[in-house]
Amino acid sequence: MSAAAGSASSSSPAPRLESKVALVTGGVLGIGEAIVRLFREHGAKVCIADIQDEAGQKLRDSLGGDQDVLFVHCDVSVEEDVSQAVNATVEKFGTLDIMVNNAGITGQKITDIRNIDFDEVRKVIDINLVGVFHGMKHAARIMIPNKKGSIISLASVSSVIGGMGPHSYTATKHAVVGLTKNVAGELGKHGIRVNCVSPYAVPTGLSMPHLPQGERKDDALKDFLAFVGGEANLKGVDLLPKDVAQAVLYLASDEAKYISALNLMVDGGFTSVNPNLRAFED
Ligand code: NAD
Repeated sequence: MSAAAGSASSSSPAPRLESKVALVTGGVLGIGEAIVRLFREHGAKVCIADIQDEAGQKLRDSLGGDQDVLFVHCDVSVEEDVSQAVNATVEKFGTLDIMVNNAGITGQKITDIRNIDFDEVRKVIDINLVGVFHGMKHAARIMIPNKKGSIISLASVSSVIGGMGPHSYTATKHAVVGLTKNVAGELGKHGIRVNCVSPYAVPTGLSMPHLPQGERKDDALKDFLAFVGGEANLKGVDLLPKDVAQAVLYLASDEAKYISALNLMVDGGFTSVNPNLRAFED
């Protein structure tokens, strides 16, 4: 086979983010950590921006120290923190190609609208929505002069359906999709792509505490996967943080060079298939 046709002889796949610089908010744990690790595997230089300083520095060290990985303390709800994280990234690595707005919280599980706590609502909005605004704003000021860039935000299945999380969580995730489309509309003329990724339930510190009490037996991870697997459309596979990171990697890479304003569902069809439909049953 000619080189042009694509030789299949190489043992490991070519890195997909070689010479790219990325910033990942909430990159210390869960899905964010998986994104940071996968981006590093694919050759990106990465800034981890998170509120967990000690764990963040440990993660940076575990990835080979501070040559290609930077940790910056950053609360995404504070504009100055996000601005400084972007500046620190550009100062260290020379530019910013990929911004991942991943940090998010569920907030307290209050589903009685009559008893809603607005301090709690504001906190969720400040992190899940205003935090994404901050990320987009400060990434754009670097990316516009470069005439390129990829901005990816973590939404959720709660971005398209109700009943999967607290009211404020669902409201913010729907809003992230609208914001993504609008900012994609604005930044397209600068060659910047803006997308979001919407996973079904993934075992992390955010989701696992929400496993119903009656479903808890002995092994937290097994119990969680059994429960969400039972509710899933796609059977026989577990959705793990790395699977979400793979979707983010795709949108970050040049393979997605013409993909913008997309809400990429990583849900095995969960939000598109009516679970009451029995037409395909044996
Ligand atoms: P997680 O709780 O495991 O990790 C969140 C990370 O964000 C942590 O490192 C935390 O320190 C950091 N963080 C929290 N508040 C922050 C703030 N104000 N500023 C900066 N960093 C902050 O959560 P996760 O499950 O990995 O979720 C990541 C994203 O994926 C969130 O936006 C979440 O809504 C979304 N998501 C998660 C699931 C799931 O089932 N886990 C499903 C759909 C969408």
